[in-house]
Amino acid sequence: MSLLSIDGVWKEFRGHSVLRGIDLEVRPHEVVSLIGASGSGKSTLLRCVNLLETVDDGAIYLDGEEITDPRVDVDDVRRRLGIVFQAFNLFPHMTVLDNITLAPRRVHGVAKAEAEEQAGELLARFGLADKARSYPDQLSGGQQQRVAIVRALATKPRLMLLDEVTSALDPVLVVEVLQVIRELKESGMTMILATHEMGFCRDISDTVCFLEGGVMLEKGPPEKIFTDPEHAHTREFLRAVL
Ligand code: ADP
Ligand code: MG
Repeated sequence: MSLLSIDGVWKEFRGHSVLRGIDLEVRPHEVVSLIGASGSGKSTLLRCVNLLETVDDGAIYLDGEEITDPRVDVDDVRRRLGIVFQAFNLFPHMTVLDNITLAPRRVHGVAKAEAEEQAGELLARFGLADKARSYPDQLSGGQQQRVAIVRALATKPRLMLLDEVTSALDPVLVVEVLQVIRELKESGMTMILATHEMGFCRDISDTVCFLEGGVMLEKGPPEKIFTDPEHAHTREFLRAVL
């Protein structure tokens, strides 16, 4: 059974269709990458899954429950998803520890001591134990993005959505963030990532999806997509970016 099922999703903005009948199944522990040119609809698709956008047609199911049903409890759905964006969205006036424990305490009703203990374990796991009392502006971009990932993990999500999480980083800082994602995969986390890191994508993905103009032109295992794609446009895109 799929953990996430996207079934014929359409989305338009001001009469312009940016998602055109997207289908995607994500199984537990699977890592699915979305690749495609800027504007192809990767972020919009992730935002639809997180209910930051409403779909115009089609449906999305999480653990078999239709989350695009208008009667759904949006907070309950978001509780089961962790999302990390390109720009670090840490709260600048809060310490790392407070950033991470905010959602578990406020949204999930976890006691302060327990939330801080769990946050401490996560920070240690990702080599950030000594940063708990730091403020975001005291950290490097890579450290901030690692904290943002830890913060998304603190609510124990079923599925992580990572939207170009390394795009705003200096190349030397990209590696440490990719290492965190690699570790998440090893721990069995289910993930969908929009990425421009093609080498990493090929390495870490179980399934790669190529989007063009809101259409999922092709999807398959990385060996197939990167070496023998079905579609000429996939080949052209990869030739341009690799
Ligand atoms: P990607 O993440 O692949 O770069 P996006 O999902 O951000 O692509 O964008 C897909 C298309 O949707 C683009 O043409 C973009 O301009 C448009 N778009 C995205 N969000 C909005 C919005 N809130 N209002 C209008 N157009 C949007
Ligand atoms: Mg995007």
